Amino acid sequence: MSSVASAPVRVRFCPSPTGNPHVGLVRTALFNWAFAKHHQGTLVFRIEDTDAARDSEESYDQLLDSLRWLGFDWDEGPEVGGPHAPYRQSQRMDIYRDVAQKLQDAGRAYHCYCSTAELDARRDAARAAGKPSGYDGHCRDLSAEQVEAYRAEGRTPIVRFRMPDETITFTDLVRGELTFTAENVPDYGIVRANGAPLYTLVNPVDDALMEITHVLRGEDLLSSTPRQIALYKALIDLGIAKEIPSFGHLPYVMGEGNKKLSKRDPESSLNLYRERGFLPEGLLNYLSLLGWSLSGDRDVFSMDEMVAAFEISDVNPNPARFDLKKCEAINGDHIRLLDVKDFTERCAPWLQAPFAPWAPEDFDEAKWQAVAPHAQTRLKVLSEITDNVDFLFLAEPVEDEASWTKAMKEGSDALLRTAREKLESADWTSAEALKEAVLAAGETHGLKLGKAQAPVRVAVTGRTIGLPLFESLEILGKEKTLARIDAALARLAA
Ligand code: GLU
Ligand code: ZN
Repeated sequence: MSSVASAPVRVRFCPSPTGNPHVGLVRTALFNWAFAKHHQGTLVFRIEDTDAARDSEESYDQLLDSLRWLGFDWDEGPEVGGPHAPYRQSQRMDIYRDVAQKLQDAGRAYHCYCSTAELDARRDAARAAGKPSGYDGHCRDLSAEQVEAYRAEGRTPIVRFRMPDETITFTDLVRGELTFTAENVPDYGIVRANGAPLYTLVNPVDDALMEITHVLRGEDLLSSTPRQIALYKALIDLGIAKEIPSFGHLPYVMGEGNKKLSKRDPESSLNLYRERGFLPEGLLNYLSLLGWSLSGDRDVFSMDEMVAAFEISDVNPNPARFDLKKCEAINGDHIRLLDVKDFTERCAPWLQAPFAPWAPEDFDEAKWQAVAPHAQTRLKVLSEITDNVDFLFLAEPVEDEASWTKAMKEGSDALLRTAREKLESADWTSAEALKEAVLAAGETHGLKLGKAQAPVRVAVTGRTIGLPLFESLEILGKEKTLARIDAALARLAA
């Protein structure tokens, strides 16, 4: 059942450009995007870049590039414009100044002259006395003389929002009814002493002006919601906002050791997934499972399927565990779903510098086209392609000592000699025939196929794991395969 009324849905994705995008942020973008699409609504993309010390143009560019790579589109925002432009908060400072002034004129916000030291001292005292330790309302109703005195001392005030002294209850779209008592939500700053507006102001003001109907964001922002609801009420009274949006807080994402996945954890960096060759659709599929599922047992699906099924009321409020192995497995499944031409094209970056260890002129397009369908059956991430096909383009297989030691056992030389003999007379137009040859060589030495093919694989590819072996041999060709077995035999003899 849909949890959403018939009014047009307007949601927003509003990150701060403060560094590499991380997976939590992508999950938030994804849920907003899917929600908007599911309800044929509007996705507003807004850049919350009012913190000049932390935001950078480079992060902004990276953010847009990442979202485009993931395949997101938005109806309003940077690059596409819209009726509420500009969508970068750094370009909306006049608006915030104006709203802050209106709030003060209406008595809904006030100047607070308390110094940090004074605030700290009173907070500590309140704590010691077992009382609520938030702002105590000291400057709520200063007399003209007190204000004069503070100014004479050279104090510059912050602007503080006056919270109503009432309990705030709302129904979270994910968590159900939530209640915050007034003593736990004290008056809070909305403009710094230097005049810079804070997140606490600009975020709800823009949600109001941009007519956002649903705020879907991470659980870490839950504590700001009662404040925003109170601010919203003031904005409605001032004729600036129309209606309080609905809120839905998405579950925490937990990493290693059941700790919250943090921006600093390497596996939270979106760039890592891009560099390793995750498919956007594979990564998004996995991220959608952080708090949501399509149906009991179907883990692999397309974004269209997600959009069709996505209900915010189905999101699970419990923390979700980020499981890199599962993320890779799902990505591998999406690699399998590509058509082979698409797969071949997406591998292209990893077949070139700086990844490819072979000289560009040694790359053989025909061999690549022949091996690609086999590679597609094996990869979890696209970057694995380089190691899997280098045996085709390098003059000699890579030297991987660990693989060599693992595969080359007592008797491997005898096995390799027999295999060479059988391969020499095999039909090289058939991978099946090559398999028969190695199988027969194994039988001669009392070895099953798995044991018999390991030294052959290492001799030819340098590695113990790789693509289907007999197809690989066929594509590499008889001459090179036999030469490599000879080289391995020589090495074993030495
Ligand atoms: N700029 C805020 C952040 O990135 C947005 C939070 C929100 O969705 O309200 O945390
Ligand atoms: Zn004060």
